[in-house]
Amino acid sequence: MALLVIDDLAKTYDKVTALTGINLSVEAGEFVTLLGPSGSGKTTLLMSLAGFTTPSKGTIRLDGKDITHVDPEDRNFGFVFQGYALFPHLSVANNIAFSLRVRKWEKARIAARVAEMLSLVGLDNLAERKPRELSGGQQQRVAIARALAFGPRILLLDEPLSALDRMLRETMQKELRRLHRETGVTFVYVTHDQEEAIAMSDRIAVFNHGRIIEIGPPRGLYKKPSTRFVAGFLGENNFLSGQRADDDETMVEAFGTRFGSTYVKGRRERPGDSLTVWVRPEDIRIGQATGDEIGFRATVVENSFVGALERILLRTATGEEMVATLRSEVAVAAGQVVDCRIDPSAIGVLPN
Ligand code: ADP
Ligand code: MG
Repeated sequence: MALLVIDDLAKTYDKVTALTGINLSVEAGEFVTLLGPSGSGKTTLLMSLAGFTTPSKGTIRLDGKDITHVDPEDRNFGFVFQGYALFPHLSVANNIAFSLRVRKWEKARIAARVAEMLSLVGLDNLAERKPRELSGGQQQRVAIARALAFGPRILLLDEPLSALDRMLRETMQKELRRLHRETGVTFVYVTHDQEEAIAMSDRIAVFNHGRIIEIGPPRGLYKKPSTRFVAGFLGENNFLSGQRADDDETMVEAFGTRFGSTYVKGRRERPGDSLTVWVRPEDIRIGQATGDEIGFRATVVENSFVGALERILLRTATGEEMVATLRSEVAVAAGQVVDCRIDPSAIGVLPN
């Protein structure tokens, strides 16, 4: 049985529907991320799990027990928010000890646990500092240590890294993965950053307009999304117009070429029906197609150097633009007509 089971959860504020039909199960020890644009309902779901928001409908079960209306403090969940919400007048050690004192732990046990937590987040020598004497990254480590100190069943994290700069964010992403691994605590993590979600999660639930659009492991969602929203939200994509071939319903025509396609989700198209074809920039290669690769020609519009990769804007025979990212050693120049190739498994076809 899953540790946490959310069944048909909904939340409406006056006229705003923040969540509808949320179904999600989280296994013990999993790292699950709620990913979606701003306003898609992620925080509302996290607050419902925490017990700070009362759902309008549906149930939340922990170990099979209905906790939908259980008080926050009786859920034994830890929280980490975007603003660290540390107690400004308390030292680092006392911030971490706070939830243990509330739980009436013995003094010696508290001291041992605080030391253990400080070491876990690498702040051993800052125990006596006040929050204002710490950097943003250090404050967030304290917030995480405080949330984990009492041994929560689940740690809820709402955009905990969004206030940090890019370098620090990447360091903290690795830190959080490590903490997840070492503590074995179940993490439910909210972010609007798709790269962060992909890098950190065992599974991602993609939110839009208060609904979960798709749930799955990062690789599966990235490689084989079932919806245009997920394809576009998780990483860069080219969406191109195509159509079912008039003379052969197994074939799709797009960007001046035709290819067989079995990957069609949704309703069945008829010959001549228009379709959307998508392909990730990194799956477009320069060179003659071999084997069952899809070959086509395109004109280089623009070429920019972006570190390890070269980012190339192509114009296809149908006049559409397409972005390709290539390893930098491939040299192409604007105006050049190039042979391109794509592995058929990298092409997605979605009904319009
Ligand atoms: P996210 O965390 O994905 O940005 P939220 O869960 O904060 O999204 O918000 C989802 C929707 O619910 C938004 O339209 C938001 O304006 C609305 N909402 C959130 N909290 C409240 C509230 N307390 N009162 C009214 N509307 C709210
Ligand atoms: Mg939010």
